Amino acid sequence: MRLRAWVRGERGLQTLEWIALALVALALLTALAIGLRQTEAGPGEAVSAAVSALFRCLTNGADCPVAAVGVGKAGSCLAQPTACLRRWEDCLLHGACAGADPENLLGLLPWLALVGIGLGGGLFALLPPSVPRRRWTWPRITFPPPRVPRGRPILPFRPISVRVPTPPPKPTPTCPSSLTSEPAQVDACAQELQKYGIYIDPRNWKLEEIHLILRGVKRMGEAMGGPENMKRAIGGVFIDRRAGGGAETYAFWPHPPWKRIVIGEATLHQEPAWRGEVAIVHELAHAWDMQSANLLQRISGRPGQIVREMIKFIGEEPGPTCYGGLKSETCPPKWRVGDPKEEWAESVSAYLYPEYIEFLRLTSEKEADLRPLHRSYVERQFNLARQSANHTNR
Ligand SMILES: [Zn+2]
Repeated sequence: MRLRAWVRGERGLQTLEWIALALVALALLTALAIGLRQTEAGPGEAVSAAVSALFRCLTNGADCPVAAVGVGKAGSCLAQPTACLRRWEDCLLHGACAGADPENLLGLLPWLALVGIGLGGGLFALLPPSVPRRRWTWPRITFPPPRVPRGRPILPFRPISVRVPTPPPKPTPTCPSSLTSEPAQVDACAQELQKYGIYIDPRNWKLEEIHLILRGVKRMGEAMGGPENMKRAIGGVFIDRRAGGGAETYAFWPHPPWKRIVIGEATLHQEPAWRGEVAIVHELAHAWDMQSANLLQRISGRPGQIVREMIKFIGEEPGPTCYGGLKSETCPPKWRVGDPKEEWAESVSAYLYPEYIEFLRLTSEKEADLRPLHRSYVERQFNLARQSANHTNR
């Protein structure tokens, strides 16, 4: 009973959390060490490969790349965890370690993780915490108070819609369409984005860039029947800006909002300017699919339900663009393999931006086209996003 009380107390919960964290850290470090020894890739690639491999092994043994990569005898540990445990006992307690033993730990990790998750899950299911746990809430980005030049009238403001029960209506500055980078206006535009579930740190962005994001986001939001629907479908994404590189969406970021889009300046600023909006919409389409995936699928980089159903629906129909599964002879060979996730993101981009397909047909990809099955699948997903809203409004 003392153990029960301890576990249910705040200290007990904290200790259990720390033990779980330490186990995860140990597992990751081991996987990382082996990943670094096996590949010539940098630490970043090794970490992501190790994490991905670990979760693939957990979710689907047949697809587990551990054996395929040839990491020592890890495969045998995965298949016979009990025999492996005995070897470890010999190694640690009796000092009879064989040469490859340290690498065998990798094969045990999925089992250790399974046992840990099972024990932890059971414990928390059986013992409802007596300590009220603070619920996680969306982070509120705090903005500096608006600077209003003296002697000039304050910007006209709109009260927040009366249907929102909390917080009580407060005046909000509007997001202007003109490009004057008053800090208060930048903040107002960032807050406009939040209605769609898009979070940014306004200090990192120029007003024209926020406008660019907002144009893409609004076009997507309108197709979904409004900001609320889009927020629900995409589930909250933080957009981060970086100097170099392209654009990428991370399905699982270590802290909330759990999804993150990182976009490079060159991708944001393209000719014609709407191509930056296409890039944003493309990444948001990834986020939409990730929202339909479970946690393990997200961490292991697998597609969500939206993309999995798309594969069945479209059959052999070519994708809209070379990057999105067109697989034509005229496409660059590296893109001919195809990736269903990109095919979905490109289909959403092509659906929302017909000018994108026109542009590609005139410049580099003559066969670019959003074909009937792809179009109707994307349309169906947009309709579903609208309908789920009608349902909850009733
Ligand atoms: Zn993509």
